[in-house]
Amino acid sequence: MRDPLDILRETFGFAAFRGVQEQVVTRILEGQDALGVMPTGAGKSLCYQLPAVALEGTAIVISPLIALMEDQVRSASANGIRAAALTSASRDPGGTERALAEGELDLLYVAPERATTDRFGRLLEAARISLVAVDEAHCVSEWGHDFRPDYRLLRPLLDHLRLPRLALTATADRRTRADILDQLGIAPEGLVVSGFDRPNIRYHVVPRSGLPGQLRALLKAHDGAGIVYCPSRAKTEALAADLRETGRPAAAYHAGLDPHIRANNQEAFVRSEDMVMAATIAFGMGIDKPDVRFVAHAATPKSIEAYYQETGRAGRDGEPAEAWLFWGAEDFARARQRIETEVEPHRQQAERERLNALAAFVEAATCRRAILLRHFGEDPPETCGNCDNCLAPPKTLDVTVVAQKLLSAAFRTEMRFGVGYLKQVLSGDDNAKVRTNGHHRLSVFGIMEADELRLVQPVARALIARDALRADAYGGLSFGPGAKPILKGEQRVEIALPPKQSSGSKRRAREDHPPDPLFDALRAWRREEASEQGVPPYVIFHDSTLRQVAAMKPDSLAALRRVDGVGEKKLERYGEGLLGALKGAL
Ligand code: ADP
Ligand code: ZN
Repeated sequence: MRDPLDILRETFGFAAFRGVQEQVVTRILEGQDALGVMPTGAGKSLCYQLPAVALEGTAIVISPLIALMEDQVRSASANGIRAAALTSASRDPGGTERALAEGELDLLYVAPERATTDRFGRLLEAARISLVAVDEAHCVSEWGHDFRPDYRLLRPLLDHLRLPRLALTATADRRTRADILDQLGIAPEGLVVSGFDRPNIRYHVVPRSGLPGQLRALLKAHDGAGIVYCPSRAKTEALAADLRETGRPAAAYHAGLDPHIRANNQEAFVRSEDMVMAATIAFGMGIDKPDVRFVAHAATPKSIEAYYQETGRAGRDGEPAEAWLFWGAEDFARARQRIETEVEPHRQQAERERLNALAAFVEAATCRRAILLRHFGEDPPETCGNCDNCLAPPKTLDVTVVAQKLLSAAFRTEMRFGVGYLKQVLSGDDNAKVRTNGHHRLSVFGIMEADELRLVQPVARALIARDALRADAYGGLSFGPGAKPILKGEQRVEIALPPKQSSGSKRRAREDHPPDPLFDALRAWRREEASEQGVPPYVIFHDSTLRQVAAMKPDSLAALRRVDGVGEKKLERYGEGLLGALKGAL
């Protein structure tokens, strides 16, 4: 067997393993099983692609989506790995089956429903197989967020083949991990978990105020591809139209779109270096695009788990990326209503706790990353230096008195009014409506000073997020379970006041990567290659590779070979072209 490090260098063009890759790969090469739990972008695919090259025979990879398989085949082939997929969309299934039988494939991707057919079993009997990898392995577990019954049928096949089995997932939850081991018959010592941090993602959480404007500013500061997650189908289309007006390519994606249009939009996004996709969460697992530069949420996600998974689609290539969450009190009000009316009673408490965790996250004045990682059971440092709260620490303010005044105003006006009106009463605004309602006679009329009035809006937002106030369908605010303890002075209320929003995100783009005409020239070369071959630019080289080339300015193929991401195959195919482009721009 060839030395794995040689394969790493020659086929993948990497100088060293990253994180737990080595541990996983070593187990498989030694004939043992493994379950690798690694965050998005950690390099899961290398964990089976490298053994697939090292070991005699074909590695079978079970994968849930055709789009994922196609993307993987494309990237593996670009590195000179002999890879194919057997799917309903395959152009030459007969040819692929023959190649399998004749030992001409390193990797074969197949969906679970096909893998478990008798026909496929017979194909395997006639071929030499090296290992079976199960990608997105959380699909096998009912605890996972994406259970697929077909995954359950894989076990007999795995037991029958008696080959190293490798399961891979980015899912974080302990119970799901144990279940995957159990379902796939992998011994507990095969579990390899890497840290969950995504250090290149910078988290920002801000209250929504004039979302279109906030998004336009975001787009202005970031010219790379991005996803904006929207709470509804209608919103995706409205936002896409709005964003297109900025001159940026933008499209919508949701489950209700015509399948043809949806597929086209996705394909355009995958190939683009600057497109923005306004999408519902239906735009998810199939998105293996490594150069997504930002993920924004136009409304709060369902839970911290969902948030982490969705934002995890940014910056898989390890280059700087951003996550922006624009939240509103309405999001929480709506989610709480949904729990009361739509969730089965025995699951309501758990759902409330999820929502409370999310509320604490958006309202926090401390490091966002630390909160996220603690949520997943890690013990991170107090500060990360790469989130909004670390970069510009907000002031925390004790607003208990303002909260009490606001709650009493709601109470004394019979909990029928919204924040705007309550503010009028609290400020002593002697207008016609207040007069007609007789609210100018209330004890809370005019009890707030200007500096308190400024805080009413953020305090209301905080109280709604914490379920101390509940908004009804007409905006009327009534008490939730958290109201009484605040009124009685048993519970204090603190909020975080972010420092004045500057053009912070704009500054960032420059700090990370100052404008570099050399890099731009290399990208232009890559764009041309990509369009000639009809593949996304990242299949040729990742941004990080081009940046290294721009920095190191290699003057020979031998020097170029030392750059991360330049394996033998790519060196042979693009080496001269890339050196030429570099020379032309120097
Ligand atoms: P995942 O499937 O875990 O999200 P990928 O397999 O797509 O991650 O890999 C993420 C990125 O990391 C890719 O750009 C890949 O080329 C890069 N990568 C993987 N392994 C290494 C390594 N050992 N050294 C440098 N870069 C790596
Ligand atoms: Zn931080």
